Amino acid sequence: MRPESQIVNPNRHYRVPEDAGFGGLAPLALLVLTLAAVLGAVYGAVSMHLSNLLLNIALALGCGGVVGVVLGKLTRTFKVPGRKIGGSLAVLAGGVMVYAAWVAWMYELFIRMFLVLSPIEIFEFMRVAMEEGTRTYGGRTLTDVVLVLVWTAEAGLLAVPVWLLHRRAIARPFCAACGQWANEEWFMPRLSCPGDPRELAERLEAEDYGVFDALTPIARVRQPHLKLTLSRCSRCRSLNVLTAVAVACAVDETGAAHFTDREICAGLMVNEDGLTRLQALKSRWDEFVAAEDAAESFDDDESVEEE
Ligand SMILES: [Zn+2]
Repeated sequence: MRPESQIVNPNRHYRVPEDAGFGGLAPLALLVLTLAAVLGAVYGAVSMHLSNLLLNIALALGCGGVVGVVLGKLTRTFKVPGRKIGGSLAVLAGGVMVYAAWVAWMYELFIRMFLVLSPIEIFEFMRVAMEEGTRTYGGRTLTDVVLVLVWTAEAGLLAVPVWLLHRRAIARPFCAACGQWANEEWFMPRLSCPGDPRELAERLEAEDYGVFDALTPIARVRQPHLKLTLSRCSRCRSLNVLTAVAVACAVDETGAAHFTDREICAGLMVNEDGLTRLQALKSRWDEFVAAEDAAESFDDDESVEEE
C-alpha cells in the first residue's frame, strides 16, 4: 500500500527513468530470449521424464531462476533501468520459456510415437490422448480443468522467478546522468521515532529536515522504531534517495515480540540541507554503534576470564 504522504508532493520522489537505456535493449533482449528458449526446451524435454512432482517443480523454478538471474545481471550490464520495458521483457522471456517447453515436449512425443516401436508406449500415449490428458503423476493422469490448472502453475513456476529477479536487480534508484545504479550508503535500522511516523514522512516531503535532529539511535529493544536507508549515486553524489520504514512492535501472550514493517516514505529525494542534517544523524548513529560494540567486546572479555 502506498502511504498517503507520498501523493502530497510527488515531485519530491524519485522516479524511474523509463526513457533511459534503450541502446542496450536489443542485445539484452537477444541474449535473454535465446537463453529462455534454450532453458525452456531443456525443461520441456527433461520434465516429461520426471514422475516426481517435487523434482518437476524444482526444475521449473531452477530454469526460471537462472533466466531471472541472468536477466537481472545483464539488465545492469546493459543499463536498462526502466521497470515497464524491463518488466515486459521479463514477461516475454517467461512466455518464451513456456512456449519452448511445449515445443520440446511435443517433439519428444512425436519421436517416441513413430520411432520407438514400443506397443506399450503407443498404447499408453493413445490412452492418455483419449482422455485428453497428458501428464501422469503417481499413476493419475491429469485431464481437463485439472490439466489446465497444472499448465498454468507450470507456466507460473517458469515465468514468475524471471519477473521477480528482474525487479530485484533494478530495485535501487538509477542515476540517468551517470548511467549507473545508486548504492545503499547509509543504513540506520534502529532510530527512536517521536510522534506519528506518517507525520514525519510528511514533514520530510515538505523538506522540513529538522525532523532528523529529533531522531536518536536506540538499543535492540521491544519498542516501535524507525529504519532509514539512503541510496546514493557514487559518481555525481547528487542523487540522494531516502527510504523510511516504521517498525511496529507487538508482544504476544508467550512474551515473544513480533515486528511489523510499514514503509512510510519510499524513494524520497533529499537536497543538500537534508543531506547535511542526515550526515549529523549518521555520525550519531556511528558513535552509538561503536559504543555498543565496545560494550559487547568488554562483556566478551569478562566471560572469557570467567572460564
Ligand atoms: Zn550520478
